[in-house]
Amino acid sequence: MLSATLQSAINQQIKAEIDSAYLYLAMSAFCESQNLPGMATWLRIQWQEELQHAMKLFRYVNERGGRVILEAVDKPAAEFTSPSTLFTMVLDHEKKVTGLINKLYDLAMKENDHATQIELQWFVKEQVEEEKNASDVLHMLNVAGESGVSLIMVDRQLAQRAAK
Ligand code: MG
Repeated sequence: MLSATLQSAINQQIKAEIDSAYLYLAMSAFCESQNLPGMATWLRIQWQEELQHAMKLFRYVNERGGRVILEAVDKPAAEFTSPSTLFTMVLDHEKKVTGLINKLYDLAMKENDHATQIELQWFVKEQVEEEKNASDVLHMLNVAGESGVSLIMVDRQLAQRAAK
């Protein structure tokens, strides 16, 4: 059985994953409005991944005989100044999530909850990939530039992202 403290902390992480999903969906809507369908697709795949993260934790809490309590979701921003600003926000957001996962892991260690540590190891590894994905897009935008034909080419490249 999960301790009350860990249960509450994992419920907070479920909220954080759903907040991430909602932010990326808002970003996808913005990209659609800017005629950037490739970025919009990339961000919708990210939205789906975040929902999968939330559901992985949802299942885990139930497997451990805990209770999932959902919180209100944060209202995401609607406007973004440029593609590079948007993807900088994605990277910063993922760094923040990495911090949350690490804190959760620290708590599981403090409580000697081995099963939760093992469950969270998947998330620790996943965050490495999340930060790399956002960095890769930012790098592409920095090298290619984000106007004219370059922007169209980067957008087409991002359209290639496949769902996991
Ligand atoms: Mg996530």
